[in-house]
Amino acid sequence: MEAPNAGNFLCICHFGGEVVTLIDSLNYKGGQAVGVSITKDTTFAEFIQIFCAQAMMHSTELSFMYTTKYLPTQLLPLNTDCGMRDLVSFNDNYAYVYVHGERVQNIMPTHISEQMSRCEMDSIASVSTPSEHLFEHLTNGVPTSTIGYMSRCVVNQSGPLESTVWGNALHSTGQTFAIAEEFRKILYKFSLAHNFRYKWKRNAPNALSTYCAVEGCPWQIKARAIRSTPIVRVTTFNNVHSHTAHDLITMALMSKAKGIAAILKDKLRQDPDLTPPKIRSEVKRKYGMNVSYKQAWRAKEKTKMNFCGDVSHTYKLLPWLCNSLKDSNPGTIAEWTCDADLNFKQLFIAYGCSVNEFLLGCRPIIAVNSSFLSAPYRGALYSATAFNADDEMYPLAFGILSYENYEDWLWFLQHLKGLIGSLKVTIISDRHNALLESVGEVFGIQNHSHCFTHLKENFGK
Ligand SMILES: [Zn+2]
Repeated sequence: MEAPNAGNFLCICHFGGEVVTLIDSLNYKGGQAVGVSITKDTTFAEFIQIFCAQAMMHSTELSFMYTTKYLPTQLLPLNTDCGMRDLVSFNDNYAYVYVHGERVQNIMPTHISEQMSRCEMDSIASVSTPSEHLFEHLTNGVPTSTIGYMSRCVVNQSGPLESTVWGNALHSTGQTFAIAEEFRKILYKFSLAHNFRYKWKRNAPNALSTYCAVEGCPWQIKARAIRSTPIVRVTTFNNVHSHTAHDLITMALMSKAKGIAAILKDKLRQDPDLTPPKIRSEVKRKYGMNVSYKQAWRAKEKTKMNFCGDVSHTYKLLPWLCNSLKDSNPGTIAEWTCDADLNFKQLFIAYGCSVNEFLLGCRPIIAVNSSFLSAPYRGALYSATAFNADDEMYPLAFGILSYENYEDWLWFLQHLKGLIGSLKVTIISDRHNALLESVGEVFGIQNHSHCFTHLKENFGK
């Protein structure tokens, strides 16, 4: 590249604000800017000297970074004469330099995608600051005098939504799908890509018919099962919309938990702990769709269910689980019950090793308690905790039952009594009504004492 003539290379130096990374450019939020004219022979020391004179700053503890026209989002350190030469060589006529120091704010990039909504991006872009260079990087051209308007436009087009890849997911009559559900998923993605809502006229496994939600719009698609197979084939596809600008502006995309679960499947598989607020911002950023907290939560639960199976099915494993525990750990008590309709009712588990150690070396005191379970099936976790010779808590038994009723506590305590045999123990509890009766019945009323913590809390109330 041809070196610039002496004195006609301009370094636009930003300081006091914050670098914000957009999809394919950098923006600088707040702060100020000064122009530093240099030549291809200007040394780093000379550059600092000119900058400090222009910005009226001291040179101590300042650090500099710059970008090139080829990699406008990559910040490179500027701290040597060699860096000065690269800055001149890999930019045309002007370059952006970002200054960081104790007396100026952090210039490390803030990623729009993670920390800001598009609305906030608009507000950044529309703030006129002296340092607002904005989108010359994008246009690859000369700085323009209409920066304010231009920046707002460019931010609004800060990259195509990811849903556009589904633009041809539905393409012609004769297209087939393995099952109706696959057709529904593809249709949903197609509607996101083309920014329209649809309504079902018929939605059965063997016959599907939808049309555009905008009244009078001719868009429609129909599919039917091929003979008696689950395979469905598109029989009618009129892929033409007749929308007004007002329709496009006011149309809210369909945000169904099931659909969100389908499009976020891979993301949730990689990061199962993705929270509903993060799902909301991800969906908004990538697909331009507003979803509520509840929809995001339901989408997450649906995805989890697809990966791990239905939680209710795991209850079917209980008999196997209890038998396996007893086989592999002699002395274990693992019992379960169900109601007349074979629905799960109660579970009690005490590992053989825990029981043996309790009988051998623990103090004859057992604290019983229960706490709510927040899973879809609710109920409560019951626990029996002993204390070893060092007065440390020693887990003895636990159970899954309904919450705080006499029958369940009685069932749990009877199993507890069964494992300690004739040993006399003192039961500590919060003396809930259900416990007052059941503990007295199984262990004797004289062996039931208050939990001091609960007692104190109850007085506090
Ligand atoms: Zn339409």
